[in-house]
Amino acid sequence: MAPRSGRIAVGVDVGGTKVLAAVFDRKGRVLGRAKTPTDLSGPAPFLDSLSEVIKEALGTAGLTLKQAAGVGVGCPGLIDAARGILLSSANIPFLRQFPLAKALSRRTGRPAAVENDVNAGLYGEFRFGAARGIRHAAGFFLGTGIGGALILDGRLYRGATGAAGEFGHQFVDPFGPLCGCGNRGCVEAVCGRPAISAEAAVLAARRQAPHLLKKGGTDITKIKSGALAKAAESDSAVRRLLQNKAAALSIAVGNVANILNPELIVLGGGLVEAMPGFFAREVRQAVRSHAMPGILASLRIAEAALGDHAVAAGAAALALEA
Ligand SMILES: [Zn+2]
Repeated sequence: MAPRSGRIAVGVDVGGTKVLAAVFDRKGRVLGRAKTPTDLSGPAPFLDSLSEVIKEALGTAGLTLKQAAGVGVGCPGLIDAARGILLSSANIPFLRQFPLAKALSRRTGRPAAVENDVNAGLYGEFRFGAARGIRHAAGFFLGTGIGGALILDGRLYRGATGAAGEFGHQFVDPFGPLCGCGNRGCVEAVCGRPAISAEAAVLAARRQAPHLLKKGGTDITKIKSGALAKAAESDSAVRRLLQNKAAALSIAVGNVANILNPELIVLGGGLVEAMPGFFAREVRQAVRSHAMPGILASLRIAEAALGDHAVAAGAAALALEA
């Protein structure tokens, strides 16, 4: 039996290369999904591709747009969620100060909500995943960058301009590498996947990581999270490298814990998912050197539970609640 109208929503995760749309009920169950390459050829084709993939996802669930209570989009960049405006996004440069919620609502005939993708991801975990029932949670999402988000007092905390939770740009090393933001020594520049891949490539070139050399070579663009995880099983140097990176990440995790006293810090993203259990275990251990005893007493570190669906699930929940 199809769910009653008003009980389902579509969440859309706009990635740099792919767009995922998934249909969720109020309990966060996935009823249908569809994927398409991100169309970056201009505003109109971009919006067309979003509304097409939304319809396709609904179709796989045997539903139509009319049966959806709303559409939520998780999008990289600076978002004014209250007004549904995409202020700027490095991934979608042709949309600036763009009323994305309004444009999408016009195309789909449904109410639409827009949220920063990392915020949407943590919100998905808060509603349906690892942070369910938690009032104060912070999320670190490790991939090409390190994204962060906050749930405070049971609500997404966005800050004055929607940019709160930039945990990846915490300064951890005065002599560290240059970061994409232009500063030096941000935790993202030290512990983001490209930084780890670069050091792993050096280990491979020095023949200190023979498995990685054989399987992944020394091209850092080819050493992705999966290859690092695989190499860590056989190459002790790669394992040590990852442990050192988790220890550096723990400095940033400890800072956030000391400032906000959250009950839970969620670790997610491609790098964390590629090696289940590893980052939570290492950070749990190392954060003891950085967070205060009164903070540690109530702090849990857990890995995200929704994987690929977190952003879409959170965006759908926000659409249902809007
Ligand atoms: Zn930075």
